[in-house]
Amino acid sequence: MQLSVIGIGYLGLTHAVCMADLGHDVLAIDVDENKVGLAAKGEVPFFEPGLEPLLSKNIDAGRLRFTTSYREIAKSARVHFLCVGTPPSRDGAADLTYVRAAATALAPHLRDSCLIVGKSTVPPGTARQVLSELRAAAPAGDKIHLAWNPEFLREGSAIQDTLRPDRLIFGVTSESDEMILREVYQDVLDGGTPCLAMSLETAELVKLSANAFLATKISFINEMAAVCEAIGADVTALANALSYDDRIGRRFLSPGAGFGGGCLPKDIRAFRATGRELGLDSLDRFLGEVEAINMARRARLAALAREMLGGSLRGKRVAVLGVAFKPNSDDVRDSPSLDVCQQLARAGAVVSVHDPAAMQNAAQLCPDLHYRSSIQGAAQAADLVLHVTEWPEYRAIDPSALVAVVARPNLIDARCVLDADLWRAAGWSVRVLGQP
Ligand code: NAD
Repeated sequence: MQLSVIGIGYLGLTHAVCMADLGHDVLAIDVDENKVGLAAKGEVPFFEPGLEPLLSKNIDAGRLRFTTSYREIAKSARVHFLCVGTPPSRDGAADLTYVRAAATALAPHLRDSCLIVGKSTVPPGTARQVLSELRAAAPAGDKIHLAWNPEFLREGSAIQDTLRPDRLIFGVTSESDEMILREVYQDVLDGGTPCLAMSLETAELVKLSANAFLATKISFINEMAAVCEAIGADVTALANALSYDDRIGRRFLSPGAGFGGGCLPKDIRAFRATGRELGLDSLDRFLGEVEAINMARRARLAALAREMLGGSLRGKRVAVLGVAFKPNSDDVRDSPSLDVCQQLARAGAVVSVHDPAAMQNAAQLCPDLHYRSSIQGAAQAADLVLHVTEWPEYRAIDPSALVAVVARPNLIDARCVLDADLWRAAGWSVRVLGQP
């Protein structure tokens, strides 16, 4: 099928590449000429394993092209995927400026019937509003159809998540729109992916409530970590024991410095704003607590660092391992680690940072930290090593080799995954978040 993808950020570029790889003829557009130029040359402007070769493969096969012309995409496609950003506005609500701007730019070129498919994360009610605005502005009028197909991909496994998602959600207003979406995703559905059709509003809500649930699960186990610290219990053993209960499950029960990134925090704040708009104070309060617990873990980590260094961080050298908000990503948006780095630096510590992929992005946001290209370089003369993002290479560190480069062998494992016994045997003082 001939498809267009509007917005080639993280979501849109991944979606465009994967749709082309499924055999569709894809034309992708962005207002950012630089991004369009890079993508057309086969370059991915962010870190995502496997995406660049798949981009080049599909460009070479002639199935994937890029443009900055709305006229061109309207002419070439009958299904348009809307993948623009929905950043937070000042009060936390989703800023729909880009969604509106894309619809406004596309509408005058829509002369025939077509299906616009929203993938961005938006508050319930957005889809129906965008549909009526499009119908009012487009020459094709009521022949414009709109569906909402929220996206659940995770950075670091974006291709797999797009081609083999847990489920496909189709928010639709007619059976014929559902059939078009089924045709687009035929190969994915043939692979056994469940597909659920529902109203536009329910589909919009599935995405927000899924993220709210995941954030709640993370904050739950992190609050249990705080309880464990207070009573001398072990949160890792606790999480493991809980996870044997099928009703609870294993995933998202890892204690740590809390959630971050470009999606969960902003979506929680946007959902709280929706709660306030709807007069549902309990939703706002409930998610407010999830957020507060999340932020408290960052403060707890900084406090533990201070405690381990004898009550003051002034002039102390701290090596921080990992600043991406999670491994396999270069994303530092709302990164718990970067927040902790800043708290330590504000308290007078000299903070050296290592990350396998995210240092360039981190340096743009926090130029005052010291960035080191090796773990040893970051740990040089450190009074404390802080393990915050669980990249696989950090599990492979030889503690008896690293002990030789630090000034004082103090380790805090904020992810509860390093072999504490091994580190202790190599002479380190070890504290693990959520453990005695
Ligand atoms: P992003 O900021 O990386 O990309 C958005 C892109 O849209 C940018 O390249 C921007 O230039 C472009 N854009 C803005 N206005 C435009 C316009 N009028 N016409 C064409 N292009 C325009 O954002 P993202 O991370 O890709 O997220 C997009 C949406 O997907 C958000 O709603 C987000 O919540 C949702 N989402 C993201 C992820 C993720 O992991 N990144 C996962 C699921 C859902």
